[in-house]
Amino acid sequence: MSISENIHSIKQHLPLQVKLVAVSKTKPADAILEAYNAGQRVFGENKAQEMATKQAVLPRDIDWHFIGHLQSNKVKYIAPFVSMIHSVDSLKLLVEIDRMALKNSRVVKCLLQFYIASEETKFGLSLDEAVDILFSEEYAKLHNIEICGVMGMASYSQNQELIREEFLTLKKKFEFLKERFFAETPSFCEISMGMSDDYLLAIDCGSTMVRIGSTIFGRRN
Ligand SMILES: *Cc1c(COP(=O)(O)O)cnc(C)c1O
Repeated sequence: MSISENIHSIKQHLPLQVKLVAVSKTKPADAILEAYNAGQRVFGENKAQEMATKQAVLPRDIDWHFIGHLQSNKVKYIAPFVSMIHSVDSLKLLVEIDRMALKNSRVVKCLLQFYIASEETKFGLSLDEAVDILFSEEYAKLHNIEICGVMGMASYSQNQELIREEFLTLKKKFEFLKERFFAETPSFCEISMGMSDDYLLAIDCGSTMVRIGSTIFGRRN
């Protein structure tokens, strides 16, 4: 199947309120353009320089979402255009995103990435760490970032019950933060969870954004 057929068939399974982030990491600009021509506007990348290189040659109305681990010293490459950063996992990173967004006269939307998998290798915050950030004086001073929700990655596993539990854990963290810190903030509404192998389960558990790569673009090398 072609990229455009893949997108259309995924879209048929997405409820209206669930956004599709087409994960185009490692794929060339012409593959992204094919998806764009099929109507897709939101693309996800996990390397700052790669994203900036693609952004420079692709249509201006693409929404670029950063989904990978982001080092503070790389924020400058994407700050002029990035629409959402899904992978905020420290106050230090949030401060740097704010500083670079201000420099570019922008507000950058962010998600707090949580550690939900039983594996050791995944990045992300614990709920306590997120609460510490949101109570901090430094956070209160940031005006060029907007925290719009949470993101998480389930374990790399065939065990559907395990994955379901991890997704529901993320949903619970979202609800806790919503009630505690964002009750008056309608834009805090996103739960980014679900990839090619588990997006239907993620939607079942309350996902509002799925990040799908290989099912659209084919396997990566
Ligand atoms: C690569 C990646 C995806 C997409 O993975 P697929 O299995 O190809 O759909 C989603 N989220 C993150 C954070 C990724 O790095």
